[in-house]
Amino acid sequence: MYKIDRNLIVNTIKEMIMETTRTLGSEVIKSLESAFGNEKNNIAKNVLSKIIENQRIAKEENIPLCQDTGVCVCFIEIGRNLIFDYDLTEAINEGVSVGYTEGFLRKSVVKHPLNRINTKDNTPAVIHYDFIPGNKMIIHLAPKGGGSENMSTLKMLTPADGREGIINFVLETIENAGGKPCPPLIVGIGIGGNFEHVTYLAKKAIFRPIDDNAKIDEDRLLEVELLERINKLNVGPMGLGGNTTALAVKVNSAACHIASLPVAVNLQCHSARKKEVTLIGKEA
Ligand code: SF4
Repeated sequence: MYKIDRNLIVNTIKEMIMETTRTLGSEVIKSLESAFGNEKNNIAKNVLSKIIENQRIAKEENIPLCQDTGVCVCFIEIGRNLIFDYDLTEAINEGVSVGYTEGFLRKSVVKHPLNRINTKDNTPAVIHYDFIPGNKMIIHLAPKGGGSENMSTLKMLTPADGREGIINFVLETIENAGGKPCPPLIVGIGIGGNFEHVTYLAKKAIFRPIDDNAKIDEDRLLEVELLERINKLNVGPMGLGGNTTALAVKVNSAACHIASLPVAVNLQCHSARKKEVTLIGKEA
């Protein structure tokens, strides 16, 4: 069996938070630059240039990309040959606490949705676990902004609504959201599964690389058509019009009940902060 030192996990999460809140990934920058090149609307072009300049200043001056430094969302893939003699969730949350505290990042988590008492260290993170073969652990982490999360939606369609029903619901979501989720967006879509699983699929979709096309034909065709139709809505960067409303659309699907067609749309703002790190277990 294999082990990963607890301190390594705490420090890795801390570093991932420090980096992602200040530095946009190269794939997002490339995508914003290419959108700037293709954009026809002058106001939209100006907004895109400010977003590109903002990420450059954040990196150079080592300051957060946005005042909303998000809630930490992690997808953790755990090698089946790893053993943990400590509480992994506790270790991850310690990393989150140290990262947000030492990084002087805004603490955006409240203990209870009604008492609104701030936890003061941005814990707890939202953590999803999965198992993979081998002795490594892959950490996917994203500080997820509240503005784009607030405009995300879920609907239980019926099978009769079909593909057109999915498309209409996604377009309606983006149009109603306007500038509130801080477009240009990465649109994560879940279809199938059930009530809770479909939102998990949508969230996981925004972690996919921008240039990754869905493997399943039906999903890939939806990604292509939706990206085109979303960018014709004229919502534009920050909702001020233009042909750049989304940088990418990612569709994840799963098997579902014969009577159901669940759809979830998770919106990721232009501050699309995420990172993946792989830790290798040492023989115990
Ligand atoms: S939605 Fe994104 S860009 Fe907008 S305020 Fe929140 S984190 Fe910042």
